[in-house]
Amino acid sequence: MLNQMEVERLEAEAVNSAKKRQPLYAPRKKIFPKRASGSFRRFKWLVMLVTLGIYYLTPWLRWDRGPYAPDQAVLVDIAHRRFYFFPIEIWPQEFFFVAGLLVMAGVGLFLVTSTIGRAWCGYTCPQTVWVDLFLVVERWVEGDRNARMKLEAAPWNVRKLALRTAKHATWLAIAVATGGAWIFYFADAPTLFLDFFTGDAAPVAYATVGVLTATTYTFGGLMREQVCTYMCPWPRIQGAMLDDQSLTVTYNDWRGEPRSRHAKKALAAGKSVGDCVDCNACVAVCPMGIDIRDGQQMECITCALCIDACDAVMDKLGKERGLISYATLADYNANMAFATAGVTQPIDPTRVRGADGRLSDNIAQFRIGKLLRPRTFVYFGVWTLIGLAMLYALLTRDRLELNVLHDRNPQFVRLSDGSIRNGYTVKLLNMVPEPRTVILSLEGLPGAEMSVAGIDQPADRSVAVLLEPDRLKTLKVFVRQPREQVGDATASFKFVVEDKASFEQDEYVATFRAPEKSR
Ligand code: SF4
Ligand code: SF4
Repeated sequence: MLNQMEVERLEAEAVNSAKKRQPLYAPRKKIFPKRASGSFRRFKWLVMLVTLGIYYLTPWLRWDRGPYAPDQAVLVDIAHRRFYFFPIEIWPQEFFFVAGLLVMAGVGLFLVTSTIGRAWCGYTCPQTVWVDLFLVVERWVEGDRNARMKLEAAPWNVRKLALRTAKHATWLAIAVATGGAWIFYFADAPTLFLDFFTGDAAPVAYATVGVLTATTYTFGGLMREQVCTYMCPWPRIQGAMLDDQSLTVTYNDWRGEPRSRHAKKALAAGKSVGDCVDCNACVAVCPMGIDIRDGQQMECITCALCIDACDAVMDKLGKERGLISYATLADYNANMAFATAGVTQPIDPTRVRGADGRLSDNIAQFRIGKLLRPRTFVYFGVWTLIGLAMLYALLTRDRLELNVLHDRNPQFVRLSDGSIRNGYTVKLLNMVPEPRTVILSLEGLPGAEMSVAGIDQPADRSVAVLLEPDRLKTLKVFVRQPREQVGDATASFKFVVEDKASFEQDEYVATFRAPEKSR
């Protein structure tokens, strides 16, 4: 039996001990972004106004297409399987135009991201725009950052309840309007508006508004930055698209460090100080709750509000703007190398300034020409080619189509006078929203004539057909060839349809069958 002295003590630590264990789920810390002001903020207001205006108002725009087509400028008419976009009408078989637009949007995002970084995330992504809108409401109801933080920490009372109720009610109203605007793209907006409030709209309309209200309120009001950080795949994809020539929002620590809150004292003590006064203005305005001075982060949506905040501080200090700026990694690295003497010494802020105290001419600055490089030319070329191809296809597309199906059983019939008759199903597609009369005729097949079921006209080589606007017309056509002119068992000929007014024409090569013995 071992005595106590002989028991070996192992150097082991329970890495997952209950006392030290970190929770798997860390509760979210609320962010209270401060209102920023400056040129980027103004630009974001403008983008927000334009994008929200387009989204909410587009279904109410009218476009006169005549009496036979809807007058809504942008309409996804699922019932009739049409997509209307101002003068353009897309039929289901032309859906490749929509696919082409999506491809263009994808290539466009590649182009934008490789040049100006995550501009989509920072300015035009719906999540960014709606969060911005919800923040406007929050500030309007509860006040700016400090007031909101105070309210958050305060115990529940009548004022807090009233403010929170007002905020959430306004958010909900915006969310309902957002869902409501969406359904107007799928039906005549004024009619659906009335039907919606009188309870006469289709159940799917109410369900759609319900789902979009819930998602807008939750994503824009409650989850905010968490959607970008945890749910959206785009930040990860964009990381692969950026290179060292892409513009990103950058803290230029080559001129900001060493940061100091007491620059004068530090200078008096003979220490070198950079331009950053550690005021945290850039952190306070960040809607993602990050500190750009920690370097590039996936969470940064490049909204540039920290640039505005820091520029205002630099203005007050009488220093050059751009301590936080849009910069390429290549320029940043070059400036860092300059400030650290080839990365051999700590950052020395005096190295980046001349004797006059101004930033040295050796500092690499952004020039628009730096965006023009092979990669962006390739993206732009592909984007332009797809666009031109689609434009050409759009301008030259047929608005009159002809399709023919030969009767399979029987393939031919011998009539009492010995002539041979074949039956066909002829489909005439009128893709313009107005009625028109077209001429259907035969080309080839000597001596042949046709008759059309339902059209009271003697057999002839051509027949006039009235087409309804925006409709497919199906005809039963019989082609008869006199006995003495019947040739091979299989003969080719053409059905030709023509609109004499617009000179549009289409043709179909069909087959006429006859028995072998009739030769
Ligand atoms: S706003 Fe500018 S000066 Fe203030 S902490 Fe941020 S980087 Fe430094
Ligand atoms: S760090 Fe700056 S650019 Fe990035 S999300 Fe925050 S405020 Fe916007």
